[in-house]
Amino acid sequence: MEKIWIGNAARQVIDRLEQAGFGAWIVGGCVRDMLRGETPHDWDIAAAATPEEIEAALSAYRLVLTGIRHGTVTAIVDGEPIEVTACRGEGEYLDGRHPESVTFHRSIEEDLARRDFTINALAYSPYRGFLDLYGGREDLAAGVIRCIRDPEERFREDALRILRGLRFAATLGYAIEEKTAAAIHSLAGSLRKISIERCTAEFTRLLLGDKATEILTEFADVIAVFLPEAAPMMGFSHRAEHHGDLWRHSVRPLAMAPRDLSIRLALLLRDCAKLLETAVEEEYPDHAAHGAELAEQALTRLRLPNAVTERVTLLVRHHSTLPALTDAAILRNMRDLSPEALLELCAMRRADRMTHGEDCREIGELEQRIRALLSEGRCYRLSQLALSGGDLIPLGYRGPEIGKTLRRLLDAVIDGDCLNEKEALLLYLKA
Ligand code: ATP
Ligand code: MG
Repeated sequence: MEKIWIGNAARQVIDRLEQAGFGAWIVGGCVRDMLRGETPHDWDIAAAATPEEIEAALSAYRLVLTGIRHGTVTAIVDGEPIEVTACRGEGEYLDGRHPESVTFHRSIEEDLARRDFTINALAYSPYRGFLDLYGGREDLAAGVIRCIRDPEERFREDALRILRGLRFAATLGYAIEEKTAAAIHSLAGSLRKISIERCTAEFTRLLLGDKATEILTEFADVIAVFLPEAAPMMGFSHRAEHHGDLWRHSVRPLAMAPRDLSIRLALLLRDCAKLLETAVEEEYPDHAAHGAELAEQALTRLRLPNAVTERVTLLVRHHSTLPALTDAAILRNMRDLSPEALLELCAMRRADRMTHGEDCREIGELEQRIRALLSEGRCYRLSQLALSGGDLIPLGYRGPEIGKTLRRLLDAVIDGDCLNEKEALLLYLKA
């Protein structure tokens, strides 16, 4: 019998369950990740027992029972939570989301049959070895996402599986098997039944995948279901040099971009307003500002955290202009956007240029100068100014006059007209 290593806490739990007479297996993502040579981030165990039997068999551990109605008992072993779920089979799905009834079976086979993809339907027992009823190991070796049994049926039961499939393909770099891919396209619309939060959770993981570009290109129709702002970009060809439609132009740089959600979302949405201004042939002067509005609207609807939405909106708004390579221009941008956002704009521009095989030396130089200005402690915001509001009061400044004067002094320092020293700033004021 083939053996693999299992985390110590999970192994203890399996031993306890087996000693109590119940078959116990590690299942799902952790078996998949082990076989891919990665340490699983958590261990899920399926046990051929009722939830109450599991609770009794594991009474030596501290147990969390909040999931027991769904058949899950969480044992805290050496501080690590180990989820044990009673093997289940599921009744009919009537609404495309939730099974009408959950029944607890004593069979691992039925438990595996309700899972989504072959690579996620593997079980392993240190007592009985692997249980691979759907060819999951072969698909893992070949890098294939394939529904177990009939794909259309699986996606009708639970449409979230459509996006899970795309997410796994994008993050693992796997191909989607033909019938599974066909069912994804034909049932994409059923994603509307899924809550936007769950779609967003899968979509953001997809975006961070190494193969996000390929998946977003091939399954643009699926993305359009929950991101209608993107739909007009698909099939819209705005400029010959962009090789393909606006959507393709938008997703291509993702492959070159850092694994950062705000940067990738901003790349994806940066030109979403271009097609709204088709009357203007050459330049689309307002497309960035207009795109920022559309992006904000889209991301708010996707219920992304406010911090992400705000950052993406800022990046889209400013994506088409980077500062000239002078200290003053760069410091002004650092003041207006923050140094972090400015560096993210550089990353976006670099990804875009690399996609087109264009030279990135200027971007590299800009990034270096931003970092140098930061490490030199160069003054770019009011709080760094060597003069404060309190210093202006004895000179007779009052109310809004104070802020206005400080901003003027900051401009002077940024432009190199005045040193950032108290004496110099006071002299500058007098002159
Ligand atoms: P990761 O934890 O990396 O997101 P995972 O495969 O472990 O990947 P989970 O959401 O933790 O994903 O689910 C654990 C297992 O439960 C999956 O491997 C799969 O077997 C099953 N599963 C999860 N969601 C579904 C679903 N919507 N339909 C069918 N089976 C599912
Ligand atoms: Mg998991």
